[in-house]
Amino acid sequence: MHRRDIDIAILGGGLAGGLIALTLAKTRPDLSLLVVETGETLGGNHVWSFFASDVAMDDAWLLEPLIAARWDNYDVHFPAHSRTLATPYRSITSERLDAALREVLPAGSLLTGATVASATPKSFELADGQTISAGGVIDARGASALPHMAGGWQKFAGQMLRLEQPHGLERPVVMDARVNQIDGYRFVYCLPFSASEVFIEDTYYADTADLDVPTLRGRIAAYANAQSWKIAEISREETGVLPVIAAGNFDAFWQAQGRNTALAGTRAALVHPLTSYSLPDAARYARHIGQLPDLGGAALCKASYDWASRHWRQGKFYRMLTTMLFSAAAPQDRFRILERFYRLPAGLVERFYSGRSTPGDKLRILAGKPPVPITAALASLFGQGRPLSSLDHQPPEDQQR
Ligand SMILES: Cc1cc2nc3c(=O)[nH]c(=O)nc-3n(C[C@H](O)[C@H](O)[C@H](O)COP(=O)(O)OP(=O)(O)OC[C@H]3O[C@@H](n4cnc5c(N)ncnc54)[C@H](O)[C@@H]3O)c2cc1C
Repeated sequence: MHRRDIDIAILGGGLAGGLIALTLAKTRPDLSLLVVETGETLGGNHVWSFFASDVAMDDAWLLEPLIAARWDNYDVHFPAHSRTLATPYRSITSERLDAALREVLPAGSLLTGATVASATPKSFELADGQTISAGGVIDARGASALPHMAGGWQKFAGQMLRLEQPHGLERPVVMDARVNQIDGYRFVYCLPFSASEVFIEDTYYADTADLDVPTLRGRIAAYANAQSWKIAEISREETGVLPVIAAGNFDAFWQAQGRNTALAGTRAALVHPLTSYSLPDAARYARHIGQLPDLGGAALCKASYDWASRHWRQGKFYRMLTTMLFSAAAPQDRFRILERFYRLPAGLVERFYSGRSTPGDKLRILAGKPPVPITAALASLFGQGRPLSSLDHQPPEDQQR
């Protein structure tokens, strides 16, 4: 492809950029795309999971080829109760995203091993100094820190374990909070990928972003040992430190991230404020981009700001819950909020995760005996609770290990 022929350049071939590219390839085959990714493969090294109810029927085609594992229901465990919820659960992998993009996009539409240094609405510059023009540019380079925002951190280490014997799990355990409550709300997450393969993640809703990976590895091994699972091999490992948003100044954030460039994915704060997950929003946003009549630089900038600022406004209720989780509850008591939440109707839980809570759901979540003292809950909402962390900066990778 001659560089001057690029209609849309997508900077960052991760989850959001990859889904936009797959969508445009289908809805706008007339357009020439260029996906620019710093890695040699698309999507990095990820297992991304979601509830089937997170994604509208209209978006199912997009994710279907990427699904590596699927389950009909899932479990949660808390000290006071356990429950099976009949909501299907799915996992997609970066390997499948990479394969789908290579299959669907014409040769020359992928530029891997290329690092973007800067972007404008209609051009971008590579680290080697080359400047490339396009009809429109979408910056989907990801973000692990969110300037001008405050809250807490969801941090975790996960390992794919091959066991010597079958584990006996019939379905995912999305939260097992019966573990020691250390460093905030702690739970273990288990995905049974096959009869003797299980992905175990040790997760913390914590005030600080530091991640002591060797300690978490030890806790994963201890969890497996407590289930009498003997580990034959650790075939994959991932770590994450995700910002959990309680408050912020959206317009200041937008200026800091893009300075009027079209943004996508976590770079546009298109995440669920409490879970930090971005897959449902990435799928919705990809569909929106695929339906836009004008994909020129200026129109894309406006459309991306309009979409992301609306998402921000719609997230107000979830940010209030995040505030209560981090600011009202003492770290060792945070699990009580989730324990109570998981006594609510399954439909409400589904709508909560998909970011589609109804006014009735919101009332139901707040009604009844609160899991934290009411005075602490009110104090947190008036900025008088435990201090929130700034989400401006994430510690360098080497401090996480
Ligand atoms: C370990 C982990 C597990 C997660 N699990 C889930 C999950 O199960 N479900 C869920 O919904 N969310 C999950 N998340 C949260 C979030 O959805 C993911 O981080 C998701 O990948 C964010 O999508 P994104 O497209 O914004 O960023 P990314 O997927 O990180 O994509 C950004 C891409 O841009 C590339 N890039 C960065 N800088 C440059 C540059 N200068 N030039 C060119 N390319 C560049 C990167 O290499 C990357 O491929 C997880 C996060 C982590 C860290």
